[in-house]
Amino acid sequence: MQEENKLSRRQVIGGIGASLAVAAVTPLSAVAAEAGSAAPADKLENPNTKYPRPPFKSQSQPWPGLAGQMDPKPDHGEKSYKGSGRLKGRKALITGGDSGMGRAAAIAYAREGADVAINYLPAEEADAKEVVALIKAAGQKAVAIPGDLRDEAFCKRLVDEAVKQLGGLDIVVNNAARQQQRQSILELTTEDFDATMKTNIYAPFWIIKAALPHLQPGSSIIGTTSEQAMDPSANLYDYAQTKAATTNYVRSLAKQLAPKGIRVNGVAPGPIWTPLQVSGGSTQENLVKFGEKTPMGRPGQPVELASIYVQLAANDASYATGQVYGAMGGGGQP
Ligand code: NAD
Ligand code: MG
Repeated sequence: MQEENKLSRRQVIGGIGASLAVAAVTPLSAVAAEAGSAAPADKLENPNTKYPRPPFKSQSQPWPGLAGQMDPKPDHGEKSYKGSGRLKGRKALITGGDSGMGRAAAIAYAREGADVAINYLPAEEADAKEVVALIKAAGQKAVAIPGDLRDEAFCKRLVDEAVKQLGGLDIVVNNAARQQQRQSILELTTEDFDATMKTNIYAPFWIIKAALPHLQPGSSIIGTTSEQAMDPSANLYDYAQTKAATTNYVRSLAKQLAPKGIRVNGVAPGPIWTPLQVSGGSTQENLVKFGEKTPMGRPGQPVELASIYVQLAANDASYATGQVYGAMGGGGQP
């Protein structure tokens, strides 16, 4: 099983970047040629077999967990994502940029030509260091700003620091979140509930308020929402409602900011293989068969959403605002 997974992963790595590059190259061939990334897509890839499938090993880490300690390690596009200059000169802040979807977005943004600031918790320094090295290896500026988003004063400092170190800001990705499953509402403490609301709802509010004065027309705000917004699980009472709120704020703010030329969109993942799931987000029972219930029968990898974060930030998506783009292995939401 493990060996099968490794094999299908290896088979796939060369191809995904190539097909992404070609998809992006058609309208931007001059830029792509300049970036030296116009590799042809040479083969079709079967989405069912390209990444690991359940059963997975039972595994648990203390919150917030590290991608580097997961088995199998998630694929954030480290070896596969190829840019084509789609975000050249842009300046992005990504929360939760150390691992999971945030890391996949950070790698892709840097390879598309953006300078990137990432926020994460101090306990995630090991993951964050790898991301900083990957951004630098892409020839872009990397800014690491650890700190706890549940603190309003820190959220403001985070934006100020990102603006100062990047020399401006035009992409804000509110991606960090807390997910701790509880079988019963009776086990969910007020402290739990409060921490989930602070991380998932208050922090984007504080960050967007601090960032807005810096955002010029053409800037982009992206929120990571979830299939949970529309189809909540029984054991995610608090988390699921924050994702409904995220989808909702994306739509409200898009209307509010359209006249200013600032677009606001959401990304809605299905089950994705990230530290959030192995550090209290899922039960062990669910983790072992993680992704099995999707029509594809496997979880997604963070890299499979990277191009969505790029697309929503890029100039050529200029008519897309108030939208939620999903990637759920066939779940069909949102
Ligand atoms: P992840 O664990 O890699 O990322 C979550 C990040 O949130 C952490 O890396 C951490 O840096 C950050 N974070 C949490 N609490 C914080 C705090 N108090 N202060 C600062 N940072 C904090 O997991 P992921 O799955 O990539 O999560 C990214 C986003 O994807 C989240 O919004 C999550 O809700 C969403 N999502 C995940 C899945 C999935 O199956 N993994 C499905 C749907 C949506
Ligand atoms: Mg992390």
